Amino acid sequence: MTAEVDQYIQASRTLSNRQTNDILYKRHYSLILQKLGGSQVFPQLKVVYSLQRLAEIVEHNDMEFLIYDQYHGQTMNMLNRILFNSTDPGDTEMYLLKLMAENYSIGGYFHIAFLFALAYNQLLETQDSYRNDIDLERRMLFTISQENYVLSHELAHIILQDTSRYFPAVQKEIPEKRASHKYSSVIGFIAAQLGFRNIEYTFLDEPDESSPWPINILLNGTESMGLSSSIRDECCCDIIALLMVISALGEMFSGHVSDVITAIAMGLRHLRVLGIVNDLCRSSISKNFEIDEAMNIRLISDYMTRTSNIRSFIGINSDKIGVKDENKLKMMLNETADHYEDIIDNPLMASITTKVYETMKTYNNDFDAIKSATEGKIGIDEICELTGFYQ
Ligand SMILES: [Zn+2]
Repeated sequence: MTAEVDQYIQASRTLSNRQTNDILYKRHYSLILQKLGGSQVFPQLKVVYSLQRLAEIVEHNDMEFLIYDQYHGQTMNMLNRILFNSTDPGDTEMYLLKLMAENYSIGGYFHIAFLFALAYNQLLETQDSYRNDIDLERRMLFTISQENYVLSHELAHIILQDTSRYFPAVQKEIPEKRASHKYSSVIGFIAAQLGFRNIEYTFLDEPDESSPWPINILLNGTESMGLSSSIRDECCCDIIALLMVISALGEMFSGHVSDVITAIAMGLRHLRVLGIVNDLCRSSISKNFEIDEAMNIRLISDYMTRTSNIRSFIGINSDKIGVKDENKLKMMLNETADHYEDIIDNPLMASITTKVYETMKTYNNDFDAIKSATEGKIGIDEICELTGFYQ
């Protein structure tokens, strides 16, 4: 059975030969499952190290596998290094070039990937402010919280899909009279399993008749901005994942719940960076190298909605999830987000977007020449060597 899943992984991903840290991830995963209780049918965890940087659930012959990508975790760790340590936005630019190169190579655009990989290599020699660790312990807390958040978010999706399969008791507990109560009911039930009492979830849920909260207006508004229809699921899974991480890692990071929450909020920002890089690559290819200025609107609204949802949830439940000082947490979230904008978002939106545009424009004229010069000579292996993926 697992052999077939391994075949699927081999066929769908570019894998590194690096040894994955299975013991660590499986330890954290089993902590989460222990806290959840429930049945024994939870997905089996498989750890890969792939260029795709993708966590996913795979179903095969009634068995489910949660595939966690260690390279995704390493990417978040590098973004944390930049966030914590960098004094120079050039560090961000350097790393984004690597992300771009790898992203183009996944799509098979090796000639363009080659240009970005060369640019990355040039900057790699001069950029090093991210290497000087300012607070290694807190950075590790950030990375571990974010990795477990990503893993838990996938697990939450599968629980949300068919809650009673994992928790047979749920049929009695959750009233199915109104489908609109599904999110708050599932979150309430999972929260209780995890040891949190009286958790409330209303944001993005359907309003009660008596509720003054104009959720429908908000949802209609965000949907017309191009939000995916699954945004309610995403928001619900964010909250479940947040609770899973706080519960499972609580002992490891006791007294640091606010740091864990801040780490998860920054983890969402990391996901947005990866989404923007992906969109940037795709639109630069599909639109004949003209960058569409509006391409990030969907990602930004998605991100804003998910972030507001987490903030709103914390606003209602902070004391119940172990936050000691809510105002201090709000301050920490704002300060870290401001710093993120300076050191990561601004280089992303300004210099990298411009660089893609310029690179494409410069090479557009000689594009056929570059393509034929690299054709057959540059492939995924050459790009991975240049970006250090295989090292
Ligand atoms: Zn999701």
